[in-house]
Amino acid sequence: MTELTNLGVREIRDGVAQGDFTAREVAEAFNAAVEAASELNAFIVATPDKALEAADKVDADRAAGRELGAMAGVPIGMKDLFCTDGVQTTAASHILEGFVPRYESTVSQNLWDAGAGMLGKLNLDQFAMGSSNETSHFGNVVSPWRKSGGGNAGMSPGGSSGGSSAAVAARIAPAATGTDTGGSIRQPAAFTGICGIKPTYGRCSRWGVVAFASSLDQAGPMARSVGDCAIMLGAMAGFDAKDSTSLQMDVPDWAAGLSADLKGRKVGIPREYRMDGTDEAILESWEQGKNWLRDAGAEIVDISLPHTKYALPAYYIIAPAEASSNLARYDGVRYGLRDLPEGAGLQDMYAATREEGFGDEVKRRVLIGTYVLSAGFYDAYYNQAQKVRALVARDFERAWADCDVILAPTTPTASFPLGDKTDDPLAMYLNDVFAVPASLAGVPAMSVPAMLNGEGLPLGLQIVGKPFDEQGVLNAGLAIEQRAGFEAKPETWW
Ligand code: GLN
Repeated sequence: MTELTNLGVREIRDGVAQGDFTAREVAEAFNAAVEAASELNAFIVATPDKALEAADKVDADRAAGRELGAMAGVPIGMKDLFCTDGVQTTAASHILEGFVPRYESTVSQNLWDAGAGMLGKLNLDQFAMGSSNETSHFGNVVSPWRKSGGGNAGMSPGGSSGGSSAAVAARIAPAATGTDTGGSIRQPAAFTGICGIKPTYGRCSRWGVVAFASSLDQAGPMARSVGDCAIMLGAMAGFDAKDSTSLQMDVPDWAAGLSADLKGRKVGIPREYRMDGTDEAILESWEQGKNWLRDAGAEIVDISLPHTKYALPAYYIIAPAEASSNLARYDGVRYGLRDLPEGAGLQDMYAATREEGFGDEVKRRVLIGTYVLSAGFYDAYYNQAQKVRALVARDFERAWADCDVILAPTTPTASFPLGDKTDDPLAMYLNDVFAVPASLAGVPAMSVPAMLNGEGLPLGLQIVGKPFDEQGVLNAGLAIEQRAGFEAKPETWW
C-alpha cells in the first residue's frame, strides 16, 4: 500500500469510506509525520489528540452506516489565523500568545462539520503580513525544497501562509487552510509546488479569522491537486450571517463540475504582466501554460489590464490602513499579552503592550496605515489608493468582454533563500506584484504548479477568473495540471 502520508484529500476520504484504511490510521500517520518534521517549524502547536478524536468519530459514523462528509477522515493543518475553540490562536504574534478563543471560526467549523480533523495550528507571517514567513514571532518556516547546488541553505516557503505550504509540500498534511489578502495563498503555493485558490471575496466567511485588511481578506484551501482544492473549498465556503460581507449565494459542487475540456473558452494574456525583473524561467512557464490551455481547446487572446502597475502601491496603502484600524483592538485589555509597568496608567499599558507584542513588520504597517489615514494625508494617499483600486477592478470588468479567464505567472521569481530580502521591505513587497490585482478586484484566483526551474525549484501559474466563477478557474487549473504532470516532490532531509 502507498504510504498514507502520500495520499491527497480525495484518496483519503474515498479510502476511508471504502474501508481500505481507517481514519484513525490516517491521523496517526500524519501525526507522526508532523512530529518528525519539527525542523520545518511549520506548526506553532500540534494537536494530535484533536486529529485522533475527529478520526474516531468518522470511523464510528462509518461503522454505524451514517453518511460521511466531503472531508471525512482527512486530517488538515489550520493556519493559526483561524480562531479555534479551546486551542491557542496567535496569528504568529507575541501579543496574542496565550489567547485561547472560546469560539470557532466559521470556516474551521465548516471543515470539522464535513469530517476533517485538525493536525495543529500552522505557522505564518505575523498577522499574515509578509511574503516569506520570516515575520512570525515563532521563527521562520523552512521550505522542504532546496535549491540544487545550494548546499543546505534554507529556502522560504513563501508567505504569509508558509506553514500551510510547507506542510502540504512536505506531506505532513494532505491539505491546509490559507488566507489571501494580497497573495498569501497563491505565492506560497507557487513557491512550494502545490495548488491554492483564493475564491471570490465573500465566498468564505471571515468570521473568527483574525483580521488583517477586511476588504481583502479571503480564506481558501491549499492542497496538492486542483481536485482536492475543489473538494475542500466546497466544504469551507457558504453564506454566513455572522459576516456582513458574506455572499448570499449557493455553493456549487465544484468537484463534480470539474472538466479540463476548454473548448469555446477564451484565455486572456495580460500584456502588462510582462514586467522587468521577471525570471526567464517564469516567462518560459507562462509560454508553456498558454500551449497547455490551447491544447485543452481554449483560444488564447491578448488583453490589457492598464492599471496593473499601480495595483501594488495602492495595495500597500489600503492594506496597512485597514490593518492599523483592525489592530487597534490589541490593547492589553482584551486579548493575550498585557504589559503593565509599575505605576503605569492606561495609556502606558497600551503603549508598553503594543511595543512588546507587535513585531517590526506589524509596527511598520500600523505606522504606514495611521499615516495614510491621518487628516492631512487622507486625500493624498488613502483616497487616491481607493480610486486606483476602482480602476484596477474596472480593468478586469472590461477584460471579461474578451476572455473567460486570465493566465499569468503567480510570482516574478521562484522561492529565495531565507534572509535574502528581510532588510529590503520593498523587494519583499514586489513578490506580490502579480497577485495583488486580483485581490483588489475581489475576483477568484488560483496558483497551480507548472514546472521546476533550472535550480530545481517549483514555479506556479496563476489563473484569474470572473467574480463567482471559481469553476472556470478550477477547470483551467485542471487543464494545466493534467498537461504539466508536475510530480516533483522535495526530498526528505528533515
Ligand atoms: N505579502 C502580502 C503582504 O505582506 C500579502 C499578505 C497576505 O496576503 N496576507 O501584505
